[in-house]
Amino acid sequence: MNEVIDRLKKVRKGAMFIIEAPSGTGKGTVAKEILKNDPNIKFSVSVTTRPPREGEVEGVDYYFVTDEQYDEFLAQDAFYEYVDSQYGARYGTLRSEVDSFINVGQDVLFDMDWAGARQMRKKAGKDVVTIYLLPPSIKELRKRLENRGTDSREVIEKRMGIILDKISHWDEFDYVIVNVSLEETVRKIQKIISGERMKRVRQVGLKGFVQELIKEAKED
Ligand code: 5GP
Repeated sequence: MNEVIDRLKKVRKGAMFIIEAPSGTGKGTVAKEILKNDPNIKFSVSVTTRPPREGEVEGVDYYFVTDEQYDEFLAQDAFYEYVDSQYGARYGTLRSEVDSFINVGQDVLFDMDWAGARQMRKKAGKDVVTIYLLPPSIKELRKRLENRGTDSREVIEKRMGIILDKISHWDEFDYVIVNVSLEETVRKIQKIISGERMKRVRQVGLKGFVQELIKEAKED
């Protein structure tokens, strides 16, 4: 019996979980908690031309590249999706971060904006699950951005300026969570992930399994 269950697990199709939120909503912290507790999901490390913030690690948080290197990725068609100049910087998802994992039943978690989510949905359809985190209030969001202390006042004002535009895309997402408490939000996302893993379309091994069941029933 265990053998059958193990085999079914191996032939699962991975899903792409995209988490998006306005800056300061706590998206990064939530993503880290999810990844820490679930070995079956890996983070898609994006490419960016912005400089690292304090504490950010090359190859873990982002691949930090120059504009020239970014252009080279573009020329090689190495991006699954990309978005230029949201905050004066460019971001992109490498194909190499995605395909080889999804096809062996490994889920991938993405931190990307609504424009990226749109491109992914177009390209990968049913494999994509999108989650939007809303802040409990704009006041709280500004406080979090300021307390983070990683961005200059100018950058904070710029980020605040585009928050309204970002929020207007909330209804393009499959799931929407108001991030009041980190623990609650993480629990909710974990439930979404396990539910999505059980969907028939992701359990690509089921067909063979059911055929065997039918065969067994006929022989019974
Ligand atoms: P930050 O500079 O604060 O790390 O990210 C700024 C914005 O860029 C966030 O909304 C983040 O989700 C988005 N972002 C990060 N990586 C990617 C990516 O690879 N593609 C897209 N489309 N957006 C990204």
